[in-house]
Amino acid sequence: MADKRDYYEVLGVDRNASADEIKKAYRRLAKKYHPDLNPDDKAGAEAKFKEASEAYEVLSDADKKSRYDRYGHAGVDPNAAAGYGSGGFGGFGGFEDFDLGDIFGSFFGGGASRRSANGPQRGRDVQMSIDLTFEEACFGTKKEVTVSHTEQCPACHGSGAAEGTQPTRCTACGGSGQVKSVQRTPFGSMQTVRTCEVCRGKGTIVKEPCKTCRGEGSLRRSKKINVNIPGGIDTGQTLNVRGEGDVGKNGGPSGDLLITVRVRPHKIFVRQGSDVMCDYPISFVQATLGGEVMVPTIDGNVTYNIPEGTQPGTVFRLKGKGAVKLNGSSRGDQYVKVQVEIPKGINEKQKDLLRQFDDSVDPSKYKRKKSFGEKIKDFFE
Ligand SMILES: [Zn+2]
Ligand SMILES: [Zn+2]
Repeated sequence: MADKRDYYEVLGVDRNASADEIKKAYRRLAKKYHPDLNPDDKAGAEAKFKEASEAYEVLSDADKKSRYDRYGHAGVDPNAAAGYGSGGFGGFGGFEDFDLGDIFGSFFGGGASRRSANGPQRGRDVQMSIDLTFEEACFGTKKEVTVSHTEQCPACHGSGAAEGTQPTRCTACGGSGQVKSVQRTPFGSMQTVRTCEVCRGKGTIVKEPCKTCRGEGSLRRSKKINVNIPGGIDTGQTLNVRGEGDVGKNGGPSGDLLITVRVRPHKIFVRQGSDVMCDYPISFVQATLGGEVMVPTIDGNVTYNIPEGTQPGTVFRLKGKGAVKLNGSSRGDQYVKVQVEIPKGINEKQKDLLRQFDDSVDPSKYKRKKSFGEKIKDFFE
């Protein structure tokens, strides 16, 4: 399954963008990717549209936004790894201010804002995954991870030019990184902008490249990072470590480190959200007589009093013995399902004891057996 992109990256806004900027960015993308306006690539446009809608849904909600800022995708969606919505394609209802003139204006009026290639660019996000034990995921933990990302070259400070030299302005594009040309179309003459081939959009030319980075301006490095993993995290969720991705270009911010979590299965326990489930086998004698048993929990063993006459499949709850709730201080519960085990291979003496026992028990002590017997009688009469 494809990894989710950073919501800020999806909307093409800065992390400090105002609510108004976020709204504007979303409206721009919604128009750009409206499937009706992209007849040549409806499916592609639809996917982009959904992605933008999802990002906007989170970033336009102060509460969701703050959780996303702290925990990344894991903070806003318990199924962070799953795709957006499984239902049909809805979501066009909210565009009352959708105006075709406006849209075509941006298509043909040259109003489409094209990010200049020599402007600040955010560095790429770096993806990695981390394995956690069941307990680590339940309680949260600290982990040291080693990320391989690019950092600014210390020798040239990112310029890519050899020591004592400076990059010079590209004469082919005048330093803008873009070359404009005018084309005739059935709609009139249209101005198109393409990336300058001489400087590859940088706007500058390095005549003598930096020896340390071979003119790249950045170097790939391994870095150890301590990561706080919140309790309640689960397989497929992603943690966002701000600014630990690849270094940005032309003064742009660094990307993020995205760590996808995998929780190793436990021998006894299974997680369901913040609740922990387990089976607990007892003998039919214990089920009949009741009594104290030791039940394992993620906090260690606890004693539990099984009531007399406990039926197979009975589930009892240990309150607050589950995993820590993601983004919260309280904990889920543990659910323990009673499995009643019938012994095999008992000896003759034991069988005799059971027969004696069975003969002594009044049939009314078996409620279900009795009522079933009555139903059968009714059925045949
Ligand atoms: Zn360098
Ligand atoms: Zn150029």
